[in-house]
Amino acid sequence: MGGKLAGIKIAMLGGDDREAILHKELLHLGAEVEAVGVPGVSAGEDYNCHEALLKAVQGAGAIILPVRGIDQEGLIYAPQSQFPLYITWELAAAIPAGTPVLIGVARPLLKEMAAAHGWQLYETADLDEMAILNAIPTAEGALLLAMQELPITLHGSEAFVIGLGRTGFALARVLDGVGARVTVIDRGAADRARAYREGWQAYPFSDMANIIKQADVIFNTVPALVLTESLLAQTKPEVLIIDLASAPGGTDFEAAAALKRKALLAPGLPGKVAPKTAGLILARIYPTLILNSLQQP
Ligand code: NAP
Repeated sequence: MGGKLAGIKIAMLGGDDREAILHKELLHLGAEVEAVGVPGVSAGEDYNCHEALLKAVQGAGAIILPVRGIDQEGLIYAPQSQFPLYITWELAAAIPAGTPVLIGVARPLLKEMAAAHGWQLYETADLDEMAILNAIPTAEGALLLAMQELPITLHGSEAFVIGLGRTGFALARVLDGVGARVTVIDRGAADRARAYREGWQAYPFSDMANIIKQADVIFNTVPALVLTESLLAQTKPEVLIIDLASAPGGTDFEAAAALKRKALLAPGLPGKVAPKTAGLILARIYPTLILNSLQQP
């Protein structure tokens, strides 16, 4: 079959429903895809994980690891695989220098492997084109969680959003859309001006101690400790905190528990609440990313 990825072998190692959608799109674009641990793609009868992974990466022009990534022991996220899949140093040695390796977020082990073997490592979750689109299902997922957990409607509630980046902005918009009274906390004067332009209240972090007691629900998107014990102590006892920032989040969860505040870390929302949309986002972005990376000198 022709297509812009014709003649390119791509190894897909692990993943969930999102990668299954991406797998279809890569085939549709003519790539030769060897997938191990991707839902719905047969692994064969006589299954030897290491051999299957090795065979997949041999001769591959690009390697796709799951958006959810691999852990620090090298375990590849593959919830529907019957067997655990590991990226080992031996497997890594079979991936030649210059090979594009795509993953959502890379932990130190993978970064070490990439540096040792000279791969082009792409952490796709932080690419603007991915993060801006993923902010939509993330915002909807956060809204869903808030609706499930709150005893009041979001309409008319005091909803705080900490950090007006890609996720924070999309979230503030949907909260506004359902009639919440939106307050944004951000360190940047320009972002606070944008919030003001949208009709939201906007404050710097230095004002948080004065206003946090108004919040019915607080969404954090800042990947640094911002909801400290002293701030948590000033929140309403019935406040709901939804922390969207990457683990460990930006909330002192121990302090929140001690103060009996309900605080939830909510990772991976796009894959949970809208796997099809999240898969289509991958399908939209990865083929071009792979082609561009293969054209690099
Ligand atoms: P982003 O666009 O970079 O926004 C991050 C925001 O945090 C910006 O407003 C940034 O301010 C602010 N910030 C960063 N470090 C700060 C610090 N030390 N003090 C004060 N403010 C700080 O990132 P994003 O794409 O919105 O993602 C935000 C977080 O959500 C990340 O951790 C990401 O991994 C996570 N995420 C989670 C999900 C989920 O499903 N839970 C989905 C997508 C993303 P400046 O602009 O001034 O730097």
